[in-house]
Amino acid sequence: MRTIILTIAFISSLAPVFGQTGTAKLKISHLTGDFYVYTTYNTYEASQVPANGMYLVTHNGVVLFDTPWDTTQFQPLLDSIRSKHDKTVVLCFATHWHSDKTAGLEYYRQQGIKTYTTVLTDELSKKNQKKRAEFLMAGDTVFTAGQYSLKPITPGKVIPRTIS
Ligand SMILES: [Zn+2]
Repeated sequence: MRTIILTIAFISSLAPVFGQTGTAKLKISHLTGDFYVYTTYNTYEASQVPANGMYLVTHNGVVLFDTPWDTTQFQPLLDSIRSKHDKTVVLCFATHWHSDKTAGLEYYRQQGIKTYTTVLTDELSKKNQKKRAEFLMAGDTVFTAGQYSLKPITPGKVIPRTIS
């Protein structure tokens, strides 16, 4: 009689996020194609609230949409992207003026990342004493990043329609 010995692989239950220990301060998940979502947390009205940002992996580096809200996660996000994709972040767009989107703009600028907001976002950031981007973009600017072309869609006017 033959004895068959089965080796049961031990599957590590470690979360698939690089640089993460204990309570996750930074979570990264795959969205679709070359797009990933990252989440950081901050305290808002006495509770921990998540804020999502996104990034796009291109042949010529990573494009970041928004910055971490948690100021301790600016560099961990860059490190995680580097170890996960072997790429550096080259561009960063902040989509509105709140801290959950703009907190890291100055830090990323210091790291040599080209940071952008719209003129309107910049005006509001300035008015509300938030971090500001190095560059301003107009609505018709097209950005090229590796194999991708990015065209920002900036807020337009809402024209009320009369229903008769
Ligand atoms: Zn916000």
